[in-house]
Amino acid sequence: MREPAVEVRQLRKSYGAIRAVDGVSFTVQRGEVFGILGPNGAGKTTTIECIEGLRQPDGGEVLVLGVPKGALSAAIRQRLGIQLQMSGLYPRLTVREVLSLFSSFYERALPVERLLSMVGLEEVQRIQTSKLSGGQRQRLSLALALLNEPEVAFLDEPTTGLDPQARRALWEIVKGLKQEGRTVVITTHYMEEAQELCDRVAIMDHGRIIELDSPQELIRRHFAQTPVELSLPGGPGLSELAGLPAVSSASEENGRYTLYSQDVARTIAALFELAASQGVALEALAIRQPTLEDVFLKLTGRRIRE
Ligand code: ATP
Repeated sequence: MREPAVEVRQLRKSYGAIRAVDGVSFTVQRGEVFGILGPNGAGKTTTIECIEGLRQPDGGEVLVLGVPKGALSAAIRQRLGIQLQMSGLYPRLTVREVLSLFSSFYERALPVERLLSMVGLEEVQRIQTSKLSGGQRQRLSLALALLNEPEVAFLDEPTTGLDPQARRALWEIVKGLKQEGRTVVITTHYMEEAQELCDRVAIMDHGRIIELDSPQELIRRHFAQTPVELSLPGGPGLSELAGLPAVSSASEENGRYTLYSQDVARTIAALFELAASQGVALEALAIRQPTLEDVFLKLTGRRIRE
């Protein structure tokens, strides 16, 4: 069997008193899209940068394609793709020039035309990178990460700052990489993105992994219940709603309630009865499928994007 794409064991990294990464372990198999998911400051970037060799960890072990990080040779680097934050990178070169320059670093690279069309930057190919919008810069950094057709691509929050259309386009690119059998390690704080793209996700909070599995399995494990959302102006409060039949937990945010129910029909029937008995109207009742966002909320009591 081939070695895993990435192995991380007991990774640790502090900045002064801040334990940014506090004993993180996981394995990414070949061909997997692996997500590192968590709110701002959870330690995602530090983790991925320690794997890429861009930061020096305080402790732990990292192997990429079976090779210890310290020994990552030029030959191994040819097989990796790393999306760097683009701010200030060769500001005077045009998009096309930057792509050509980076292509020259690799033994094998996709043609510049193909890269431009892949990330939708044909129209700005002769513009200096300093004049690009945030989203365009983001797409250029993606093209740079993928130009050598890497076996393992590391993408750090690749869709932050992209409009919905560009985000969907990026999702298609990642799905294409998976179809080609490549491995993708992606960090994100967009739950729907992780759910759409990732075979497995590690949910990070305060430098630790608090859950790791496929999105479907995480949802199934934590939610035998279905979220029922509603508003009930002037009606009963959270504690009364939490006591309704089949409700196992409940939360409130800006006057909107979420009841986690094991039997939606029973809960809703009781809810209508309660509202009628108190002479108040139920508003915007919605039953939805639980998401990774619900998993995070349940695990931490917070939303991933506050
Ligand atoms: P974001 O989504 O905001 O990028 P993240 O999950 O990637 O967050 P990190 O950037 O890894 O998190 O940061 C983890 C913690 O380490 C945060 O508390 C952050 O403020 C701190 N941190 C990160 N880099 C440094 C640094 N160079 N010096 C000091 N503290 C840092």
